[in-house]
Amino acid sequence: MEDKKMTENLSEEENQHLEELLDDSGDFDAFKEENEEPEEVSDGFVDDMFEMKYKDKVIVKQDREKKYSMIPKLTQQFRFCGNPFRIDCYKGCDFGCKYCFANASNLLGRKGWQTGDIAQLERFMARALEKDSEGNYVYETNSLSMECIRHRVPFHCGGLSDPFQDREWELGVTYRLLQLSRKYNYPIVFSTKGIIKDPKYWEVMDPKIHAFQLSIISKDTEFLQKYETNTASAEERLAFARELHSKGFWTGIRIQPCIDLQKALELVEDISGDVDYITVEHLKIDVGNPCMQVLFKEQIESGDYKRISTMLFEMKAEKKIRDIEAIKKVSKCKIGVGDNDLHYLSDTDCCCGIDTMGENFDNWIKYNMTYFSHHKDVDKRCLWSPKQSCRECFFKGSFGSKVDLNELKDIDFRQYVEEYCRRHPDFMGRVDSYKFDLFDGFGED
Ligand code: SF4
Repeated sequence: MEDKKMTENLSEEENQHLEELLDDSGDFDAFKEENEEPEEVSDGFVDDMFEMKYKDKVIVKQDREKKYSMIPKLTQQFRFCGNPFRIDCYKGCDFGCKYCFANASNLLGRKGWQTGDIAQLERFMARALEKDSEGNYVYETNSLSMECIRHRVPFHCGGLSDPFQDREWELGVTYRLLQLSRKYNYPIVFSTKGIIKDPKYWEVMDPKIHAFQLSIISKDTEFLQKYETNTASAEERLAFARELHSKGFWTGIRIQPCIDLQKALELVEDISGDVDYITVEHLKIDVGNPCMQVLFKEQIESGDYKRISTMLFEMKAEKKIRDIEAIKKVSKCKIGVGDNDLHYLSDTDCCCGIDTMGENFDNWIKYNMTYFSHHKDVDKRCLWSPKQSCRECFFKGSFGSKVDLNELKDIDFRQYVEEYCRRHPDFMGRVDSYKFDLFDGFGED
C-alpha cells in the first residue's frame, strides 16, 4: 500500500492537526527514517493485516509482514540526553496508553504497524564490528549509526514502542535483539511497561549488558487503567522490578508521565528501596486529541498547566519543581528529572540514570546540556562525540519553519549542542556562567 493513500480519507483540517502534532511535539524522531525502505526479508511471520483508526476512520491498513529498518538512530534529543541512540523492535504498540505520543505518531499513517527487521540489524552489526587480522575495521564508513556502534554507545530500546508488548510473545524480535547483544556483548537499556512472559528470556538476559527501566505511574491498578488499556497490572510490574533487581539487573522506574503527585509519592515510598533509580517526567496534554482533552480536563482547568504550543499544555515549572522536591524527600534512591526544562535537577548526570548502570554502559554520550549543567568547568575537548554529520537526526520543522532541512548539508554534533545551550540557558539552571565557544548559527528560532 502506498503511504500517500493512508491519510487520503481525512479532511484537510484533520490532516493539518496531524501535521501540527508532528511539529509541536519535537519528539517524533522516527519520521525521518520512515522514508527509508527496509530490505525485503521474509522469515515466516504471521500474514495478516492491521488497521489503525483516527476519529473512527481507518487511516492505516498495513500488511504485517512488511518490516521497517531496525538500524539504530541517534535522535535529535542528543542535545540534552545522554541516552539518545534509539532502537525499536516494533512500530506501533498494542499497550494502547491514552497519553501516548508514540502511538499518536503512528496515526500519521506513514507505515503504521510494522515489525522491526532484525535480520537487517544482524547484518549491519556484523559489518560494523568486523575487523581484519591486524585489528582494523574491515569496512570504511560515513554512517553515523556505525560510528556510534563502534564506540559502543548503548542502545536505548523502547522509545517509540514497547519491546515487551503482546506482539513480542508471538514474533520474538526483542528476543533476537537480546541474543544479538549477547553475541557482541553490546549494552542495551530497555524501557517497558511489560513483564517477561516466557522463562526462556531470562536465559538470554545478562545483568552486565541489559538494564531495565520499568514505566509505571502508580501502584494502584485501578488508577493505571484510567490511562492504559492493555498493560500488566501494577502488582505484576512491581514484582517484575523486584525480580530484576534481585537478579542483579540495573532496574529503574519511570514515572512518565507524572499525572498525580499523591499517586507518585505512594509508588516511590513503596518501590524506591528495591530499585536503582527513579525518573520523573510530567504530563504533556495534546488538546487536539479529543480523548486527552476529556481525560485531562481537570488538569487543564486547574491553573497548574500552561499552553506551550498550539496543541500542547504542560505543567508550570514551579509546580513541577514542587513535585520533584516532594518525591526526592521520600525516595530511597536517586531521582532523575525528564522534563526538558528541568534536567539540571536530576541527582546524576543523565535523567535516565545511564551514568549509574556500570562499566559496560560507560560510553553513553556526555556531550550534552544536562552533563554540562552538572559539570560547569568540564574540558569539553575530552568528551567523545560523533564526527559524522548529524543531519539524519532531524526532520522537517526541527529548526523552525523558515529553515529548509535540505539546504543544511551537514550538521555538526557539537555545534548543535552548543546552539541549544545558548538558546536555553535557563534549562541549565544557571544563566550566567556558560561559555558558548562553538556557536556558528543554525537559522531562525
Ligand atoms: S507502552 Fe509506551 S509506546 Fe506503548 S502505548 Fe504505552 S506509552 Fe505508547
